[in-house]
Amino acid sequence: MTAVDEQTGLAFYEFIDARLDEELRTKYPTTDSTPAMEEYRQKYCAAKKEHDDLVDALHRGDQEQAADLLWGLRNQASPWKAHADYPEPISDGTMPCPVSAPETGHPCVKRIPNGWAAAEGHGGGHFWQAPKATELQNAGAHVDYRTLLSGQPAAYHLPEDCTPDCWKWGD
Ligand SMILES: [Zn+2]
Ligand SMILES: [Zn+2]
Repeated sequence: MTAVDEQTGLAFYEFIDARLDEELRTKYPTTDSTPAMEEYRQKYCAAKKEHDDLVDALHRGDQEQAADLLWGLRNQASPWKAHADYPEPISDGTMPCPVSAPETGHPCVKRIPNGWAAAEGHGGGHFWQAPKATELQNAGAHVDYRTLLSGQPAAYHLPEDCTPDCWKWGD
């Protein structure tokens, strides 16, 4: 997970602020707008407080709290995820998961689901795999995943070279 920075926090805060302004203008362009103003004020104050606290947390060097607060801002921004100015790229279903294995650095082969931001991740755990193994898998090779998961160089062969001791024999 990349570290939270002030720029990201500010981008979310400004995005929410702009959307709330828009919402207020579309809902109540001219007529009595007291209830709308009240709703706007509440939402705006929530976003502002979250952003102020995030900046504070960053100044204290508290990344954990900053990350929590950024999630708060993300949740407030989520109704406008389809908006062109949304501060984070949204997956079309093909965006690769950006989190690599902490020990081996192998990339995760899962994709971010359509309509989700990379920070929201994907269902289930990560599936980290050596790029070489992914390539072999796509080529239909039989890979010994036990050695692969232990981080050792994996044993593999193409289907035509298969032997009865292979776990995929008879497929
Ligand atoms: Zn992943
Ligand atoms: Zn085999």
